[in-house]
Amino acid sequence: MNVLAGIEETIVAIATPPGVGAIGVIRLSGKDAIAIADKIFKGKKLAAQPSHTLHFGRIVAPDTGEVIDEVVISLFRGPKSYTGEDVIEISGHGSPYILQTILEACTKAGARMALPGEFTQRAFLNGKLDLAQAEAVADLIAANSKAAQKAALNQLRGGFSGDLKQLREQLINFAALIELELDFSDEDVEFADRKQFQELIAQLKTQTRRLLESFQLGNVIKNGVSVAIIGKPNAGKSTLLNALLNEERAIVSDIAGTTRDTIEETLNIKGVLFRLIDTAGIREHTSDQIESIGIARSKQNAEKAHIILHVVDATTPEQAEMDWLAPFATKTIEVWNKIDRVPHLRLPEGAMGIAAKQNLGIDALKERMYTQAVGTAIDTEDTIVTNARHFDALNKMMESLEAIEAGMAANLSGDLLTIDIRRALHYLGEITGQVEVDRDILGTIFGKFCIGK
Ligand code: GDP
Repeated sequence: MNVLAGIEETIVAIATPPGVGAIGVIRLSGKDAIAIADKIFKGKKLAAQPSHTLHFGRIVAPDTGEVIDEVVISLFRGPKSYTGEDVIEISGHGSPYILQTILEACTKAGARMALPGEFTQRAFLNGKLDLAQAEAVADLIAANSKAAQKAALNQLRGGFSGDLKQLREQLINFAALIELELDFSDEDVEFADRKQFQELIAQLKTQTRRLLESFQLGNVIKNGVSVAIIGKPNAGKSTLLNALLNEERAIVSDIAGTTRDTIEETLNIKGVLFRLIDTAGIREHTSDQIESIGIARSKQNAEKAHIILHVVDATTPEQAEMDWLAPFATKTIEVWNKIDRVPHLRLPEGAMGIAAKQNLGIDALKERMYTQAVGTAIDTEDTIVTNARHFDALNKMMESLEAIEAGMAANLSGDLLTIDIRRALHYLGEITGQVEVDRDILGTIFGKFCIGK
């Protein structure tokens, strides 16, 4: 996608999801948005109206004059609009037929159909949002848990961008001093106090490392925590599955980047999404399955999962041995089930006792799953990196900082240091789009959006 193509054109799209709704919204953006709306709107003349106003009237077909719908129009004049351009939003009755007909009326009157994410792309190109914020818009739309929504909102509001800006300013100051030193290199002066520089770089590294480390949590927040329930036939896996899912089945939309080769159920624990993988394998009757096939499948699941729940039948614990699980010990929670039938049970260290059928110990188990995946609690005020593109750029930035550090230790001259400083600045700028970002990257970012956003 050519990012600047057609920026002169006025774009239009249906902004509400497909299907029947009480209201449907059609959005126009561009320099002719108001003029185009005036061609199909019977009501007040919109061109004469101030920004941020609502107008009731009728939409008519521009060619035949036939009335299509009664609508309310929201009028925003650039630059104070989502895209930074003139924006018209037509709220009509939410019938797909009506919305399609209004859309056609708009294109007949001179608008062009918008590409996916084109509204947000214009907001970026017009400086309303930086790139990290634009990506947060997509994340917010895809958010399916409270933690994901909060992290995306923080990023949209500029929390992450603010952190990056600070890093950037510090680096720029540093670069300026080094370059000053270069200008006077004949006179053999050192403006830049090398020791102070070393401290600054160490500090920048600490901040960058913190952001990099947050990505693990960011991933959990964005994509959820995968959980495999593993155990011998009749241990109570499907009973546990049902107990876990009871009332907590999460609302999920498709999450980009995750393949769904197995059936997954999801549950929400304190705002974080947990994905129970391969639940079909649990639900289908496993006892008459050839054992080796069962193990091969369980092994695959164990490898994929962030957390393994190893369900042991407490009435026959001696049958619970599963040697092949040993390598996954750090991510395994031993869950001893049917404790209702073993009155004087002594649990091995670290194991949890539950009675899935009686719903006993399930809350404690959920608590344990949460702690194991997330830690004590998520501080959503903190910046959390959730985006793989940002993570990659931060990693490269870290490499550049290390090169600067090594360069200083080796007493490299300022002009050599400058190369690495510029590189670090470049990677930082890539995240927010301050430096020119590859068009393919922009295309990928905005191409993932839905049409109308
Ligand atoms: P799976 O083969 O591992 O999926 O095991 P199921 O969930 O089908 O359970 C096997 C049997 O154990 C069923 O008859 C369940 O009703 C029973 N069961 C499961 N959990 C409990 C429990 O907590 N207490 C008791 N007493 N029975 C249970």
